[in-house]
Amino acid sequence: MGVRVCVVGGGVVGLSTATLLQAALPPDASITLVADKFLSNTTSDGAAGIFRPGLQFQGPTQEITRRWLQDSYDHYLKILNSSEAASAGVKKVSGYHFSNNYPKIVWNALLKPILEEYRGCTPEELSTHGFKYGTFATTLLTDCTHYLPYLTRKFTSRGGVIEERRLDSLEELAGKYDVVCNCCGFGAKDLVPDQTMTPIRGQVFKVRAPWVKNFYYCDYDAYIIPGMDYVTLGGTRQFDSYNTEVSKYDSQAIWERCLQVLPSLKDAQIVREWVGWRPYRPVVRVEKERMNFGGGKTLKVVHNYGHGGYGVMSAPGTSMHAVTLVKQFLDEPKAKL
Ligand SMILES: Cc1cc2nc3c(=O)[nH]c(=O)nc-3n(C[C@H](O)[C@H](O)[C@H](O)COP(=O)(O)OP(=O)(O)OC[C@H]3O[C@@H](n4cnc5c(N)ncnc54)[C@H](O)[C@@H]3O)c2cc1C
Repeated sequence: MGVRVCVVGGGVVGLSTATLLQAALPPDASITLVADKFLSNTTSDGAAGIFRPGLQFQGPTQEITRRWLQDSYDHYLKILNSSEAASAGVKKVSGYHFSNNYPKIVWNALLKPILEEYRGCTPEELSTHGFKYGTFATTLLTDCTHYLPYLTRKFTSRGGVIEERRLDSLEELAGKYDVVCNCCGFGAKDLVPDQTMTPIRGQVFKVRAPWVKNFYYCDYDAYIIPGMDYVTLGGTRQFDSYNTEVSKYDSQAIWERCLQVLPSLKDAQIVREWVGWRPYRPVVRVEKERMNFGGGKTLKVVHNYGHGGYGVMSAPGTSMHAVTLVKQFLDEPKAKL
């Protein structure tokens, strides 16, 4: 019998890990994905999905952070250049990051070595948009309303099994799998449990405005990001807020700020408003742990969670790392009975 691996989590991180495991393990490996929420019920589904890491995005070392980002970009670029780009929801997008207040925030040292096109704005670009400082970039965007179904199809068509259920403890998986890969996003706060997990509440509009072709970030207060079908207008970054409801005050502020940047948005058709919690951890956790539950019950776990506001763009890279750690666990000699 082949090895048995379980992935916990059906968001972009869990599905990325599950499909990469299928590619890396022998064909007789059995891979099961367990989660209580899928597709439009996940945080991943509402993300704008732009490849633009915040400077606070951190792995355990700078070298690892940069490797995760480069691996992720290369992964999405490969999809972009394949016949699957449209069905996967991956596209190229160009746009601006402007500021009137703080010149340093428009320059992103993590992006510079990765993107082919990344430069300061010309004086004309700044005066047209009414800002003092700015950069222009061409980057990638992965729209999870397409990408999650694409990964799900990929996983199940290669024999992956999906179980829909909530876990109260990882102990429930002990004895059933050789290794568990824990990709449960904010769920890690209770499931691990990991008290450093903190929600950063984000509220956005999804609007139909097909004439919007570029993305815009203005300081960090307003952003406009055209996805595959809708444009995302944001947003809020409320640290430690557990509010899941749409706030009319946030709606008004987001709408006014975005219209100030792009007045043509007044003709946009509002499709929905959405609130999600970015699963923030000071350092994204990709590491091995041997969990002991008492009574001789143990479990080999590879964690892959805590991606904050950057989980779509960084999921392939952290998941490749997680797959390497799963293989290290599987390569260990089996304990003698
Ligand atoms: C407004 C907003 C905008 C964003 N924009 C971007 C962006 O432009 N670019 C970007 O890269 N990122 C963006 N993000 C961040 C991104 O959405 C997250 O980093 C990413 O979705 C995290 O993915 P995940 O798979 O870890 O978590 P999730 O998508 O939340 O998935 C977690 C999975 O774990 C399962 N789970 C959890 N606990 C349990 C349990 N106890 N038992 C069983 N299953 C469990 C859930 O059911 C779910 O399937 C944005 C987020 C927000 C809120």
